[in-house]
Amino acid sequence: MLKENLESVEERIQAACDRAGRKREEVTLIAVSKTKPVSMLQEAYDLGVRIFGENKVQEIRDKYEALPKDIEWHMIGHLQTNKVKYIVDKVKLIHSVDSLKLAETIEKEAEKHNCTADILLEVNVAEEESKFGLKTEEVLPLYDEIRQYSHINVRGLMTIAPFVDNPEKNRTIFADLHKLYVDIKEKNIDNDTVSILSMGMTNDYEVAIEEGATMVRIGTGIFGARDYSV
Ligand SMILES: *Cc1c(COP(=O)(O)O)cnc(C)c1O
Repeated sequence: MLKENLESVEERIQAACDRAGRKREEVTLIAVSKTKPVSMLQEAYDLGVRIFGENKVQEIRDKYEALPKDIEWHMIGHLQTNKVKYIVDKVKLIHSVDSLKLAETIEKEAEKHNCTADILLEVNVAEEESKFGLKTEEVLPLYDEIRQYSHINVRGLMTIAPFVDNPEKNRTIFADLHKLYVDIKEKNIDNDTVSILSMGMTNDYEVAIEEGATMVRIGTGIFGARDYSV
């Protein structure tokens, strides 16, 4: 099942890139493996997957220990400040920075661990009550503060779009985040640190790619439905 799912996702990413006149290499696929057992991640690894997304610190720590060391781990879920220390030197990218307090903690822990943390600012473009993330107007001011830090690289923006029956409904959200991303890139005209736009999940990744996503986070479409009852 995993092999067929990966092939089908790959075909659909390619088709979306073709429609948008983009190159396949411009889009990185993150296999979102949260709640799935190590054996299933190993199976995906054996099929060539090297980039996994998780949303819980403990789960990243356990899976990091159990699986090969050439895997890139992405923290895509809400991150509590007291847990930053456990993952700051283990993850490739933190997608979910949405406060100065969290950024300060990451800066401090990265310095302690002698590393630089790559992060994205999470934006709640649709301003859904239930979701974490910055309001659109908060992004540039926070970016200007965090970019001063010496142990953090702000690499771009991330959003979780609303769950909708028709992915077309999220097109303007992705377009809005892309606009904000271009604004930030223009502030950074002298280097290309800001190069990541993480948007699109199983239900809407094709539209996200058409609107400029450089990372898509796909769970269900690769690993099947999650069972939270176990
Ligand atoms: C779970 C999750 C995903 C993947 O969701 P699917 O709909 O299963 O593809 C992507 N991004 C974040 C932040 C998630 O928590």
